[in-house]
Amino acid sequence: MASIVRTRALVGAPLALKPPAYTTVRYMSASKKHPPSFAPSFKIFHDVPPLREYRHSLSASDRTVGLVPTMGALHDGHLSLVRQAATENTDIFVSIYVNPTQFGVTEDLSTYPKTWESDIKQLEIVDRELASTSGSGRISAVFAPNTKTMYPILPPSSEVDGKGSFVTITPVAEVLEGASRPVFFRGVATVCMKLFNIMTPERVYFGQKDVQQTVIIKRMVKDFHLNTDVRIGETKREEDGLAMSSRNVYLGSRRREVAVILSQALFAAEEQYVVHHKKSRGDILWVANDIINKMVLKQDELASEKRARFEVDYISLADPESLEEVDVVDPKNGAVLSGAIKMLPLEDPVDGEDCGHGGGIGTVRLIDNILLKPQE
Ligand code: AMP
Repeated sequence: MASIVRTRALVGAPLALKPPAYTTVRYMSASKKHPPSFAPSFKIFHDVPPLREYRHSLSASDRTVGLVPTMGALHDGHLSLVRQAATENTDIFVSIYVNPTQFGVTEDLSTYPKTWESDIKQLEIVDRELASTSGSGRISAVFAPNTKTMYPILPPSSEVDGKGSFVTITPVAEVLEGASRPVFFRGVATVCMKLFNIMTPERVYFGQKDVQQTVIIKRMVKDFHLNTDVRIGETKREEDGLAMSSRNVYLGSRRREVAVILSQALFAAEEQYVVHHKKSRGDILWVANDIINKMVLKQDELASEKRARFEVDYISLADPESLEEVDVVDPKNGAVLSGAIKMLPLEDPVDGEDCGHGGGIGTVRLIDNILLKPQE
């Protein structure tokens, strides 16, 4: 079986570091202290019992709930899931919660963008749009819990061997993103299990942008007999093809311009399959690797105040169910083309340069993928 080339892993943090327990309390209590400056048309819940009571009242009147789980910092990708949910449910619940257990001890939990007021405004605008669409569901609840609510017994652990009640879905959580982020999908599956149990949605909505997450959630739903349907929404992109992401705000203009290389590389590889009917790993991936390598060299040659250097974590061609690497695409199954790059900290910013949120100091990890559909 083919293996993916991984140039650098993100792990390597000393495991003895204390987990950043309850970091999100600051954020969520801020949202409680600062309710939106206008009255949204939907209810905002911070605690479980009133939300459960509300959810039961909806079931009693034959209404259906579609849940869109998010970590806030909403953009059009999130909103497209809300719109999709509105075509299939009477009530849309959106959860906004930055889940600490899916961040590794060295990852960007404390700096993850928090834009509560803007999130609520964006949801309100979408809800007005839905109100004027006949037959459409409406956003009826936003769930914004704090970490004590979500993890009531033990403070959550972000350590690989941390204690707590966790959901692990292996081996699919161990490849691709999971290889360099060992606690990531444990955190994702755990928080989603909690959200699904609290809100018992008929349907849950996830973006194709995070393809491994979709595979893991589908498995969790099947393996644990959860009574919900998993729906996947297409990846929303900026005009030049960059996949929308809450983390893009960290890029700044110089890194933003180069970051588009990931989607360009994946689209070029997709063309090998779709247009040129190539099926072998080498024939599909060479072009993506070539485009990326040329950009790496180009950046290396530029002066430090002009360049935006990056490292490739992986470029992968994998089976859509197992996410194991494939040597040849089986046209009956199709495949997932995916990649992850790390935009390195901005070097020598010039006066007045747009360095992005955080001033360009941190690395920004970007992921993207394209589904190669089955070809009968
Ligand atoms: P996050 O807030 O990053 O946890 O994302 C919440 C949900 O939005 C997940 O299901 C993501 O896959 C989805 N999502 C994020 N970015 C996009 C995008 N560009 N297009 C579609 N869905 C997205």
